[in-house]
Amino acid sequence: MIQIKNSVQIAAMREAGRITGEALLVAREHVRPGVSTKELDDVIRHHIERRGAKPSFLGLYGFPGSACISINDEVIHGIPSKDRILCEGDIVKIDVGAFYKGYHGDSARTIPVGRVSCEAADLIAATKQSFYEALKAFKIGNRIGDIGHAVDSFVQSRGYSVVRRYVGHGVGRDVHESPDVPNFGTPGRGPRLCAGLVIAIEPMVNAGGFAVREEADGWTVKTADHSLSAHYENTVALTEDGIINLTEVESGE
Ligand code: MG
Ligand code: MG
Repeated sequence: MIQIKNSVQIAAMREAGRITGEALLVAREHVRPGVSTKELDDVIRHHIERRGAKPSFLGLYGFPGSACISINDEVIHGIPSKDRILCEGDIVKIDVGAFYKGYHGDSARTIPVGRVSCEAADLIAATKQSFYEALKAFKIGNRIGDIGHAVDSFVQSRGYSVVRRYVGHGVGRDVHESPDVPNFGTPGRGPRLCAGLVIAIEPMVNAGGFAVREEADGWTVKTADHSLSAHYENTVALTEDGIINLTEVESGE
């Protein structure tokens, strides 16, 4: 069932969202060649805890980290490790959630490590832009299928493909609530968008084909063809007065 939030609940979610966004900003400052994904995870956990919140993902379904950190052809759900060291030219996806005063925030960014190829930079930029294409369709009276169609048609126009097996979702007292928010869809289909809907819109975009494979660790998801993948996510609320981007605390990244 879709949990519609009132203005008081959305105000509370602003706080969880802000802490989530801050944690990503702090992590971004630590991204450089030679840093392990465990070090990034520690920085994220410390920030969230210092703000009096809890990492949403730590222990969620048994996940061992505070953030999912995935490199290059890893799409999502990478496990932070002291043995995974960032290298010049990598792209790293950091996916973070913070739980505060009863509500979660959920946000992800793809960050270049040092200088990256033009291909990688273009993929990162297109993935971010596909989120903003989705936001244009996030309006009262539209349907979930309009969001997915907006993402998929933009991504296809750039020659990339969207991951189909993993999708966005409602966010609230649980990190993952109804409805599912696929990054593909048919315009005019799916649940109707109404005021009080809070969802994570999170395009996962592959430079190659859409197929993905789960690794033997039971978590890490990689592109089947080993092409690069990028991720961009914010938790966004729909209100009578427009959209509130709950997890965006930076400008332009
Ligand atoms: Mg996320
Ligand atoms: Mg999410």
